[in-house]
Formats: sequence, C-alpha cells, structure tokens
Amino acid sequence: MNMTDYKSLDAKYYMPAFSRTMMIRSGKGCTVWDADGREYLDCVAGIAVCSTGHCHDHVVEAICRQAKELIHCSNLYYVPGQAEFAERLATATRMAQVFFSNSGAEANDGALKLARLATKRKEAVAFTDGFHGRTIGSLAVTHKPAIREPFGPLEPKCSFVGYGDLDALRKAVTTDTAAVLLEPVQGEAGIIIPPEGFIEGVREICDEKDALLIADEVQTGMGRTGTWLTMHQTKVMPDIVSLAKGIASGFPMGAIAAREGLAFQKSEHGSTFAGGPLAMAAAMATMDVIEPILPDIAGKGKRFAELLAKWNPRVRGLMIGITVGEQECPKVQQLCADRGVLVNCAGHGNLRLVPPLIISDSEIDRAAGVVNEALTEVLG
Ligand SMILES: *Cc1c(COP(=O)(O)O)cnc(C)c1O
Repeated sequence: MNMTDYKSLDAKYYMPAFSRTMMIRSGKGCTVWDADGREYLDCVAGIAVCSTGHCHDHVVEAICRQAKELIHCSNLYYVPGQAEFAERLATATRMAQVFFSNSGAEANDGALKLARLATKRKEAVAFTDGFHGRTIGSLAVTHKPAIREPFGPLEPKCSFVGYGDLDALRKAVTTDTAAVLLEPVQGEAGIIIPPEGFIEGVREICDEKDALLIADEVQTGMGRTGTWLTMHQTKVMPDIVSLAKGIASGFPMGAIAAREGLAFQKSEHGSTFAGGPLAMAAAMATMDVIEPILPDIAGKGKRFAELLAKWNPRVRGLMIGITVGEQECPKVQQLCADRGVLVNCAGHGNLRLVPPLIISDSEIDRAAGVVNEALTEVLG
C-alpha cells in the first residue's frame, strides 16, 4: 500500500490523537528506513525507548527463543525469567524488591498506590512541566494543563511547584502528602537539568514531612545518563523508582523498584500481562547489552556537548536538549529529517536528542553535524 492510501486508511479508522507525517518501516542499530526506503540516523529512538538500537540481534534472539517456548501464562503461576530479572533489576537499581507493569504510566500508578498504602495519606506533590503519564492517576500528577484539565477531577489531589524551587516545595509538602514525584532530569519538558543540590533538598523535605520520594526514571533510567539510575549520580536515593521506556528495548514493559519495607502484599496490586515471559526475556537481553557500555555513555554525551557547544546544550549522558523556540523547533526537526537525521521537539520548543545508547562516535559526529547545520540555517 502506498503512503497516500495508508494515510487515508489511518485517518478513517484510527483516532487522530497524534500528528505525524512519515512511516518508519524497519530499523537496525541506530538506522531506520522509511516507507520510501530513505535512510535516517535515529536520534529519537522511539523517545528514549530503543536503548540497544533497533532489532539488536541479542534482543531479537531472546524474544524469539522465548516466543517458541511460552508467550503467556498469567501471574497465577511462577513466570519463567521473572525472578531472575527481578533480582537483576533490584541489584542494578540498589533497591530491595520490584514489581512489573506494562508502561511508564502504569508504573507511576503503582508507585502512587504503594505510597498511599505505606503512608496512609492521599495527596501528591509534583513539579511544573513534569510528565508522568496519561492514565487517570499518572495524569493527575502531570503538570501540563492542556493535557490534564479536560479530564478532571483526577486523583490523587496534586499540587505543582516550580522545578528547582525548594522553598515552594517546603510549603507544598504537608502531613497529607503521600509522595513527591520527581524526574531527576525532566524529559518531556525538553531535557531540563535541576540546579545543584536540588534533588538532595527534595529528599530532605520528604524526610522532614515523612512523605515518600518517588523518582520517575521512566526516561532517565536504565543507563540513559550513564548509570542504571540517574539518582545514583546524587547523594540520595528515592523510596520508590519507576522505570519503563528503555527497559526492554521497545518491548512494552515498566517496573517499580522500592526500598526495604515498601512492598505490595497479597492482592494489593496485580496485572494480567505485566512481568510476562517475553517482557522478561527482552529486558534481560537489554541489560546484557547495556551493562558493558554503561561506562561509555557519559563520554558519548560529552562528545555531543562539545560538538553542539555553540547552542549551549543541556547534556546528561545521552539526553541532549537545546532551547530553540516554539516556532523554530519544528523547522529544525524537518531540516534534520531532510538530511537524514531524526530528532524531535519536546516541550517549550526544546530540541531533544535521545539516541540509542549503542551510538558510535562516527554516528554522533554525523548527527551533530546535521543538527549544527539545521540550527545555523534556522537560528542564524
Ligand atoms: C514517557 C514517560 C512516562 C509515561 O510512560 P508511558 O510508557 O508512555 O506510559 C512517564 N514518565 C516519564 C518521565 C516519561 O518520560
């Protein structure tokens, strides 16, 4: 089917919640091909999802091998690979126990449920421009009014304070606050890095008020910034961490990990699909691929930072954000695509690059070259 026919079929039968122009038909490593066979260097990577690149042999083999053995059995039974991956994830995150989900939003819903159980409190505090997902619960703690307000009233009741503003946070966290939700680097907002000492300050305020700290590492976690958790680069740990995006190379999966003493007991939480055999195989294979390259990720980020220095990029590992402007950013995105590099516009006209973690130096040089050209053309 040609693209014109495809687009009209989509327009007729698929709810028009997305705005999109091209189709990606196949991928290998950091390269994808569109419906016309055009090649692109992919610095979007399914929005920080395809951490091992596209169709990594080790991940594909793990999924195929498991698919021939058992695709699903339900959590009524012990699931092949689940305990092994739980051990590996708990160890890597330095947490006591984990629970699986199918997405980032669901992971955050689980984290909120766990925080309510543990504190016997109902409310939440989160940050302006923060993003935590689209389910009723995770949307309640997501700031952007345009995507949240049409769906109210939402639960939990949430107040929002400026990202980086500890004074405002101290006032907002009360004895009704079950948890504070924090992205250690804001992703959807456009790769916003918090001020020095901010995360430690958030931890201190949570401790003062006996509120839990939920680190939403759905985008920042699983090696994206050079450590399994971005929180590992701070002096403090969260009580609960949520993960998804890069955890299984694009196989749908999320997780929460929690410290000692915080766990769902019998019947308190559940999921039909979560923690299924295919997800476990994909996640295990993903960690196999990422583990040996984890020490290289900071250096790859530094290479991007140096090559793009002219534009004052915000760089933490392989999360790169550049302030471009609401009007200008889509133009830069299009120019880059025209020249064979995929990047995307996150919040507030911020250009975002979150390439596969396996990206090579020469690929970084090529991507940065094209981004430099496009920015020069648009911004002068
Ligand atoms: C993408 C994202 C989510 C939502 O994950 P889904 O899998 O789309 O539900 C939550 N939090 C953060 C920080 C994200 O970047």
